[in-house]
Amino acid sequence: VDLTLSVSDLSVRYDSGTSSRLALDRVSLEIGAGEILGIVGESGSGKSTLTSAITGLLPANGQVVGGCIRLQGRDLGALDPDELRSVRGSQVAVVFQDPTTSLNPRLPVGAQLEQVLDAHGAARGADRTSLLASRLAEVGLADPERALTRYPHEFSGGMRQRVMIAMALLLEPALVIADEATSALDLTLEAQILELLLRLRDERGTSLMFISHDLGVVSQLCDRVAVMYAGRVIEETSGTAVLASPAHPYTQALDAATPTASSQRRRLASVPGRMPDLTAPATSCSFAPRCLHAAEVCETLSPELLTTSTGRARCLVYDPEHQSTWKREPVVA
Ligand code: ATP
Ligand code: MG
Repeated sequence: VDLTLSVSDLSVRYDSGTSSRLALDRVSLEIGAGEILGIVGESGSGKSTLTSAITGLLPANGQVVGGCIRLQGRDLGALDPDELRSVRGSQVAVVFQDPTTSLNPRLPVGAQLEQVLDAHGAARGADRTSLLASRLAEVGLADPERALTRYPHEFSGGMRQRVMIAMALLLEPALVIADEATSALDLTLEAQILELLLRLRDERGTSLMFISHDLGVVSQLCDRVAVMYAGRVIEETSGTAVLASPAHPYTQALDAATPTASSQRRRLASVPGRMPDLTAPATSCSFAPRCLHAAEVCETLSPELLTTSTGRARCLVYDPEHQSTWKREPVVA
């Protein structure tokens, strides 16, 4: 299989003082060439930890304690820091939510793009300017030659985000991770950026991991979706099915909590209750305390990902042995 990214049983722990937290607990996912995988889940579910682990940018108190990450077949755990640095940018690049934290306010945009080329040993030469200008044109910046001479604050938020995307794409990485990359933009700008990402996928075959709080956007953009809860993938489904027929009670709750008008943003904040704090390993379903349908068995068993009609879900209702104890029927497409 031609996989751009394969993450298997990845666990990441953060240690702070006397306590430690398992922010990712045996996460597995795959992204094929040219595929768009959406990652949804409420705040603290582990989405950015996944981004950091894949790009080798975990903070000092975070470490991979299990599993394996392969990028185009290469095991990232086997690389030394120099090799990892070269993978970052050339094979995988990230677009974050807030371009002001990732762009240097004191350097013109062109100089920052050049730094990326320098860091990866790209040849210097007169044709660099035209290369960079064409990259800015590609993401929809008018008058790209002049844009190269401008400072980040001279751009609007949407334009800065386009610059960030151009920077991420500069070395033509196989995988781009967009971590809440459009969340700060208004709906019109967001729609334009999503269109841009789709076009880049279609034209270049770039694979995309799209992290978002917005179920509607994820459903619209993504081929497949992984729903995360408390450091685990609790549902794998298609972009269409995540809204039309969510299988896991958590995904259903997200869906039910979202406004019905399609023009409204579908935010993930409104499921009642709180996520566990991840300091103790889960011995039962971690969503059970908040689940409207939880049966007694849910307090004692930790479910595997079980086959549903649209993918897989970590819920005992899809285990034939336990279905009868449930208060509702599983989703049938
Ligand atoms: P959000 O939607 O708010 O961006 P997220 O899904 O990206 O959330 P993460 O940032 O990956 O979530 O956090 C996962 C868990 O790890 C949370 O419990 C968080 O508090 C914890 N965490 C994240 N970074 C650190 C750190 N540097 N030290 C200790 N704990 C951390
Ligand atoms: Mg995050």
